[in-house]
Amino acid sequence: DAGRVIIVGGGFGGATAARYIKRFNPAIQVTLIEPAKIFYTCPFSNMVLGGLRQMEQIAHRYDNLKTFGIEVVHDLVIAVDTDKKTVRLRDNSTLAYDKLLLSPGIDFRWGAIEGYDEEASLLAPHAWKAGEQTVILKKQLEAMPDNGKFVMVIPEGAFRCPPGPYERASMVAHYLKHHKPKAKLIILDAQDNFSKQSLFEQGWSTFYRDIIERVPLSLGGKVTRIDAKALEAETEFGDLIKADVLNVIPPQQAGLIAQTAGVANETLWVPIEADTFESQAVNDVYVVGDATIAAPMPKSGFSANTQAKVAAAAIVASLAGKEATKGLFANTCYSLIAPDYGISVAGAYTTEAGKMVERSGGVSPMDADEAFRKREADYGADWYAAISLDIWG
Ligand code: FAD
Repeated sequence: DAGRVIIVGGGFGGATAARYIKRFNPAIQVTLIEPAKIFYTCPFSNMVLGGLRQMEQIAHRYDNLKTFGIEVVHDLVIAVDTDKKTVRLRDNSTLAYDKLLLSPGIDFRWGAIEGYDEEASLLAPHAWKAGEQTVILKKQLEAMPDNGKFVMVIPEGAFRCPPGPYERASMVAHYLKHHKPKAKLIILDAQDNFSKQSLFEQGWSTFYRDIIERVPLSLGGKVTRIDAKALEAETEFGDLIKADVLNVIPPQQAGLIAQTAGVANETLWVPIEADTFESQAVNDVYVVGDATIAAPMPKSGFSANTQAKVAAAAIVASLAGKEATKGLFANTCYSLIAPDYGISVAGAYTTEAGKMVERSGGVSPMDADEAFRKREADYGADWYAAISLDIWG
């Protein structure tokens, strides 16, 4: 018996881990539990809003994972017993594990912004988990009056994909420029500074000078209350902003199953041993992806993918009674500002004394020529094709 691994979540981290555990040792029994039969990626969902991709192009299925001998169960894990080493599904059945890997992504802190709960998100979508929410926001954008106002709310604190909101702003502005040139995009931002800021701002002044207006934290950008029915956002400074389309990205936390399993701490994120991504709190439970505290690595699909490979190797080694090899990690986040205009931030990471450290990295140069930006747009599309193939292909 080579051991039994249960994986919770079939997104970037979980599906990668399933695939690589099977690849490293086919004798290990691997069960992947994920409620959705079709997984829509957040990466490139902004391009759906921009009209550059269709939903079907960001849809992935689990048939290929099954052909590798991975058992895929479409269900939700509702409880974990880390003493008995079992997980419980919605129908109350239980499954036993030797090693458990959680990659549940994020959940939202409903109510952290007054008035913004799950019901409100149907009227003022977040679209920060792709799928139905992406479709709602896209339809609202298309139905917006020609001279309408699209308002985006960006949270403070750790959130999934640091450059994601600004790529979204770029893609929404691209859509407006071509379909509703009299419309405006107002960004209410609870941050002063953000990822790849100078590059985004340079791109915006080239393409969207009269469309995008951003209000940073220090100028009152933090939103404290949402009225989803009235499509109104109230800021910390008491200003009331009325929208035609209101896109609220709420504050976030580790996927709820991480709290249930007892691996999250008071920050509501999960501390891990950086060498193996085993939980600091509970043995034989590994956690990867957005749910973890892995800074300076950002919460990205690419990060989740490399972390999952390191965790897979550690699990396979441990089941064989061997020491894990030391992890090496990488990340690149591409962002598209216009169809042929891409930028990126990259980092390579190792661990020191159990902590994640960045060894090298950087961002695209300022003032690069058109050919350079076009190449980065192409690299981004190629990255998406390659990582999709690596995970679900
Ligand atoms: P996910 O990929 O979200 O997977 C979590 C899965 O777990 C889900 O499928 C969920 O259904 C499942 N799950 C949760 N709880 C349970 C449970 N109890 N039982 C069973 N299953 C469960 N990253 C990049 O690298 N590049 C990009 O260009 C990029 N662009 C982005 C753009 C946007 C607009 C957004 C929002 C994000 C973007 N990201 C990007 C970030 C990326 O989407 C996340 O970092 C990545 O999805 C994290 O992977 P994960 O495995 O932690 O979570």
